Amino acid sequence: MAKILCVLYDDPIDGCPRSYARDGIPKLERYPDGQELPTPKRVDFTPGELLGNVSGGLGLKRFLKESGHQLIVTSDKDGADSVFEKELPDSDVVISQPFWPAYLTAERLAKAKKLKLAITAGIGSDHVDLKAAAERGLTVAEITYCNSVSVAEHIVMLILSLAHNYIPSYQWAVDKGWNIADCVSRAYDIEGMSIGSVAAGRIGLGVLKRLKPFDVKLHYTERHRLPEDVERALGLSYHGDVESMARVCDIVTINCPLHPETEHLFNDDLIGKMKRGAYLVNTARGKVCDRDAVVRALESGQLAGYAGDVWFPQPAPEDHPWRTMPHHGMTPHVAGTTLSAQARYAAGVREILECWLEGRPIREEYLILKEGRLAGAGARAYTVGNVTAGSEEARRFRAEGRPLRPAAVRRARARPARAKRKAARRVA
Ligand code: NAD
Repeated sequence: MAKILCVLYDDPIDGCPRSYARDGIPKLERYPDGQELPTPKRVDFTPGELLGNVSGGLGLKRFLKESGHQLIVTSDKDGADSVFEKELPDSDVVISQPFWPAYLTAERLAKAKKLKLAITAGIGSDHVDLKAAAERGLTVAEITYCNSVSVAEHIVMLILSLAHNYIPSYQWAVDKGWNIADCVSRAYDIEGMSIGSVAAGRIGLGVLKRLKPFDVKLHYTERHRLPEDVERALGLSYHGDVESMARVCDIVTINCPLHPETEHLFNDDLIGKMKRGAYLVNTARGKVCDRDAVVRALESGQLAGYAGDVWFPQPAPEDHPWRTMPHHGMTPHVAGTTLSAQARYAAGVREILECWLEGRPIREEYLILKEGRLAGAGARAYTVGNVTAGSEEARRFRAEGRPLRPAAVRRARARPARAKRKAARRVA
């Protein structure tokens, strides 16, 4: 019997939906490069429903119960007294999502004596200390391609939202205003602008393809240069280093993994070399940017806007400066966990578990580390190292009493309404 410890995000504050906005999701045949979608023997969930939350359990509960394995599902992941730390020492497999990452630091790995496999239900395994995991001979796998298109679509949305000043204009509408000049005094078209992608892997190339019809000038930098025919078809300018690209772009989108080569890549120095008034869109990982350098650049006007969904650590503490910096379009980490993406990565996790439990090999393209060595997608995109330093800060989110339990949140939400009613009674 294997023990599988699965860390997922909390249920919606008002409980799981009884019905959904749409009746289903399109059935895809293959990923854009021809890669096969996940191939588990079966799934026990309805695609299009919430799966990445605790109640959704990635649709694994029945399968693991019937096959006699133990599944622990929790959202309580940070701090020494968390369920995650308590259950870790005798777990064989850890499953975690980048949106609500269970950081597997060297200290935690040292306690996880039985751990053999860490699965990322999504893409991006930087929440695992890959150096320590390699030393331990662990296998780390993720669901390659499961949400790359979700993120590429999200990036196009963020680029347009920043340039067209969408979020402040939406706010004027909500606030019952009609302040056209306020809305448009920071609004531009992207037509004719130079847009560059740091990396042109599954997401980066997906973004470049989607931006081509906007009549923009496209640039990229990559560890692995794209084939000539792809460059020609998209009209891409290749740059041998990020600095040469950043200097000429009006908009930069970051699409590389977080590993020692890319940690704090966008610091004061690099941002200072960008055009004044450039936009920076980061849906890769928060730590690819220097947190305070981004704030300084927005305050000084060096950057006209910054948007993304990734932070460090996650969840971000209440006082994280990206929540309050000017001209930002930040959300919690959501781009890769649309209902569409959840169905794919839940099926991918099931495929990996079926393989591992039956002693069959895990698909090469899913591998980051195979028994301690870079393999598959990992060998192409990562260097072995540790980028988890500082992740223990994530526990402040809970310490600050942020909403974690739906009931507690409902009570907290009801308070202002009650206070309003009370105030109304006093006036009357
Ligand atoms: P991918 O493996 O297809 O592409 C990554 C590319 O980055 C590779 O082509 C690699 O060669 C390149 N690369 C690595 N280091 C580089 C460097 N120093 N300079 C230039 N290029 C470099 O992965 P993907 O599906 O495109 O995902 C990329 C990253 O996006 C993930 O690792 C993850 O961090 C992030 N991501 C975020 C979300 C989200 O919800 N926001 C979802 C999925 C992935």
